[in-house]
Amino acid sequence: MTTMNGVRLPGNSTVEHVRLEVPEPGPGQVLLAMKASSICGSDIRAIYREHLGHGPEAYQNVVAGHEPAGQVVAVGPDCKRLREGDRVAVYHISGCGVCDECRSGYMIGCTSPHRAAYGWQRDGGHAEFLLAEERTCLPLPDGLSFADGALVSCGFGTAYEALLRLEVSGRDQLLVTGLGPVGLAAAMLGRALGAGPIIGTDVSPERLAIAERLGLVDHAVPAGDEAAGLIAELTGGQGCAATVDCSGNAQARLLALRSTRTWGRCAFVGEGGQVTLDVSQELIHRQITLYGSWVTSLRHMSELLQNLVRWNLRPDVTVTDRFALADAGDAYQLADAGTAGKVAIVFD
Ligand SMILES: [Zn+2]
Ligand SMILES: [Zn+2]
Repeated sequence: MTTMNGVRLPGNSTVEHVRLEVPEPGPGQVLLAMKASSICGSDIRAIYREHLGHGPEAYQNVVAGHEPAGQVVAVGPDCKRLREGDRVAVYHISGCGVCDECRSGYMIGCTSPHRAAYGWQRDGGHAEFLLAEERTCLPLPDGLSFADGALVSCGFGTAYEALLRLEVSGRDQLLVTGLGPVGLAAAMLGRALGAGPIIGTDVSPERLAIAERLGLVDHAVPAGDEAAGLIAELTGGQGCAATVDCSGNAQARLLALRSTRTWGRCAFVGEGGQVTLDVSQELIHRQITLYGSWVTSLRHMSELLQNLVRWNLRPDVTVTDRFALADAGDAYQLADAGTAGKVAIVFD
């Protein structure tokens, strides 16, 4: 096959189907046959509705999709590890490889002009084939599906990183504000790390229902005026030792912060927007540690893939809707509605 189908996101909440040359892997690169390519909230927020991004979020009219998983079908010269037939998930940013952030595995934080994110500045997973740097490909353990791998590529990796930053353990009650795909991931992984009870909030009754149906939260609390009181009641008036906002919404961020117990830790993961807070009252006098956490590292993504097998956990249970590439328009429309679990484009 010399040409392939792909999807771009021109903005205005539309998708564009294009026919492209199948790329050939150069030195250090592999060609993947795509198997799963899921949709992330960032695709909706910064690309699909309109092209919002600057710098690392500037979309350059490439094939979309930054949560790819696939199978190696061709290996370029000088590859060190991958062979034809290997199943991989793709860390979604290819950094320069030689700056401090890249050296510590956080290619997300690379600021070199050589940095390019799949689906943002270089072709991503919404096509039949993907040209990937070998160093960004992580072998997918046998027990995990391609959809599992795709979900780890951004969403689950991001949730895992925030929980590591918070050092979540069996000592903690955990509050997750925002039960979109990243929030569902935080709830699932938080429990695996020992936290409990797990409390989740969302404005969408559908999303609360998904979290409950999957058994990912012990308490699904509707976001709104009553939420803070309910969470206090559920935690003996003290709040949760660990909290994470996965919504990016100002009210939800404040709810997470205010529901963090004294000496507790809070992480902001949901992107975009602003928040205003009474610093003395909400943060300083309550001895709160507040973290920002952006994506994850190659090392932690690899560790997560292995832990998922040990924990017998399958991220793909959070996929509520699967679409063929030809129906990418429907997939994006559904993901944009904010009521589904994870939406994924799957191949075969
Ligand atoms: Zn993402
Ligand atoms: Zn770099």
